Amino acid sequence: MTSPVWHPFTQHGLREPVPEVASARDALLFTKDGREVIDAISSWWVTTHGHCHPRIMAAIAEQAQRLDQLIFAGWTHEPAETLARGLRALMPQELTRVFFSDSGSTCVEVALKMALGYWSARGEARERIVVLEHSYHGDTIGAMSVGARGVFNRPYEPLLFDVTTVPFPETAREQLALDALDHACAGGAAAFIVEPLLLGAGGMRAYSARVLAEMRDICSRHGTLLIADEVMTGWGRTGSLLACEQAGVVPDLLCLSKGLTGGALPLAVTMASEPVFEAHYDTDRARMFFHSSSYTANPIACAAANANLAIWREEPVLDRVARLGERQRAALETLGQAHRIENPRCLGSVAAFDLPGEQGYLADIAPRLMTFFRERDVLLRPLGNTIYVMPPYSITGEQLDRVYAVISEALGATR
Ligand code: PLP
Repeated sequence: MTSPVWHPFTQHGLREPVPEVASARDALLFTKDGREVIDAISSWWVTTHGHCHPRIMAAIAEQAQRLDQLIFAGWTHEPAETLARGLRALMPQELTRVFFSDSGSTCVEVALKMALGYWSARGEARERIVVLEHSYHGDTIGAMSVGARGVFNRPYEPLLFDVTTVPFPETAREQLALDALDHACAGGAAAFIVEPLLLGAGGMRAYSARVLAEMRDICSRHGTLLIADEVMTGWGRTGSLLACEQAGVVPDLLCLSKGLTGGALPLAVTMASEPVFEAHYDTDRARMFFHSSSYTANPIACAAANANLAIWREEPVLDRVARLGERQRAALETLGQAHRIENPRCLGSVAAFDLPGEQGYLADIAPRLMTFFRERDVLLRPLGNTIYVMPPYSITGEQLDRVYAVISEALGATR
């Protein structure tokens, strides 16, 4: 019988093989049929310290013996309290409140609802959300609404709300983008949501810290709330704990997920500034924040996140990221000498480049390359004509060399 599983972002009609992974360790996946695959994209950008990290696995096993799940409306537990205090200590001091959810998409939904709740409680009619061109914030309805419109969401347009889109600040268009943001915010926008420094699914597009800092200033000038979606960029991906740090920026709302548990279990938080919390704080029950999901702040996921925070506090994680970044930069340079690649770029642990020819997510080259990589036991998932490498920080030099050797082979074969 064929499998009844319907996979995400997968065209089953192409009948591509679906490898079954039985176990994993560090940057390696071990398939049921005995292959050893290098995970060069951290299993959709989540696995920061490596698969099955002993400290995180031990924390999960220990917590699973004590408390599995608890309603979080009006009740609490130690792993969530410890995690909230740990996040407060690690993240910018202005972000005083921690609201739990389950995925990158849901922490974005929460941030959007908090922003509108803030304006509603203040009695100001601010409803418009401003977004950056090419952004991706997830696949739930609100997250899709503030993401780029196109191939990912065209059939679902009737479900989406209107937003104001600011051009992506490419080097030559930085001022144009900032002027557009200024204009949108001057019109009384409720919030501006942005992926700081690096847009992920929109093609691994980088922009400057100076532009991000100016975006913060513009929002502050007009009272527009700044939502930083650090779901992908957070937890060291761009070379600092948060990408915002590189611009000296503190957002009003911060979205974190993926590396929050080191990539072991689904969990997310939206961190909010005190004024956003205050706007919802009252004895009037009609003004409380109306959002929850059954598994809000699951204790086992919180325990995994606490182990991740301990790793960040006690281990030289950013040194590992810096070393990985140096290796990526050197490998990309060598690749560029041997092949025609465009816009090579490196930020923290992420390296990316574009291939000449057909552009966009549906570019034919992507599935061809994916098959090529899979057949050579490397997990890579090009975004259209953009190839990127975003491995766990524990990948070895030898494994990274192998990834680039396979990419080089692919470029030679598909030319
Ligand atoms: N925001 C950003 C910047 C992302 O990169 C992603 C996922 O890749 C999301 C939100 C959505 O996260 P999730 O897939 O966990 O819902």
